[in-house]
Amino acid sequence: MVAPARARRPGADREALEPEVDDEAARCPFCEGREGATPPETFALGPAGRAADAPGWWVRVVPNKFPAFLSTESSGRGRGSLFESRPANGRQEVVIHTPRHRRSLSDLSMRELNWIAEAWQARAAAAREQGFPYVQALVNEGRAAGASLAHSHSQLVWLTETPPLVVQEQSAQAEHGPCVLCRMLAEEREQRIRIVAERDGLVLLCPFAGRQPYEVLVAPLECEDDAFTSTQLGAALVLVADGLRRLRVAEGAVAVNAWVHPLGHWHIEVIPRLSTLAGLELGAGYYVNTLAPESAAGLLREA
Ligand SMILES: [Zn+2]
Ligand SMILES: [Zn+2]
Ligand SMILES: [Zn+2]
Repeated sequence: MVAPARARRPGADREALEPEVDDEAARCPFCEGREGATPPETFALGPAGRAADAPGWWVRVVPNKFPAFLSTESSGRGRGSLFESRPANGRQEVVIHTPRHRRSLSDLSMRELNWIAEAWQARAAAAREQGFPYVQALVNEGRAAGASLAHSHSQLVWLTETPPLVVQEQSAQAEHGPCVLCRMLAEEREQRIRIVAERDGLVLLCPFAGRQPYEVLVAPLECEDDAFTSTQLGAALVLVADGLRRLRVAEGAVAVNAWVHPLGHWHIEVIPRLSTLAGLELGAGYYVNTLAPESAAGLLREA
């Protein structure tokens, strides 16, 4: 539901990305030189000959110290119970995006964004080899988006099964013929009202019926099945960063969530946290968007 009359500008009651505090970088466990403050790395990109858990890395991957998927027994009550436990179904890693203290994807260089994509793909391959066919790659920026540390990072959640929202999206796709995203992109490129930018065979747009102000979708124009083997994932992250820079110009620094849907016609979804999800969104699944996607796309194009 688009209800533009409800807000002067979507940023009016937004939760801004909190400003950097004085000793933030001095205490940051993700900055170069503090490798001992994280669990030992599982993967890193850097110059040949660099020792593990030492400075010099470009992108570094470590296990999450506080994973959401921990054990098989957390709530088990035995068969037949509503609270029956399920097998261990996950593992979590943190990808530290840069050795420098930077707080957003939009602050990273093109090279760094491509290294992140390379790290995601290497770890997704490792996950698949170890029996976790689905990897949820996600970025939370800002406390309002669930980030506990400001230093730019992403999480890779290794799963043994496809998560429910993705199953739902895929079955909706199947219902509408060969590839609903291909059809949608064809229509969008014809209408040109919700497209923000097009580059390197990828498109950045504000999707029709976006759930929140400035919701953004980045997808390859060609139907491509797997983000984690795609040669375009790095370019897609560059385009996401471009979108975040535009958003910063339009609304200031705001908290955002972003994630990859790697299967089917893969894409990246970005939702800025400009408004609070309330009873209608959480209880009924109706999203009230105070900025029409067509207007959002116009503002981002100009930014
Ligand atoms: Zn840092
Ligand atoms: Zn497609
Ligand atoms: Zn999706």
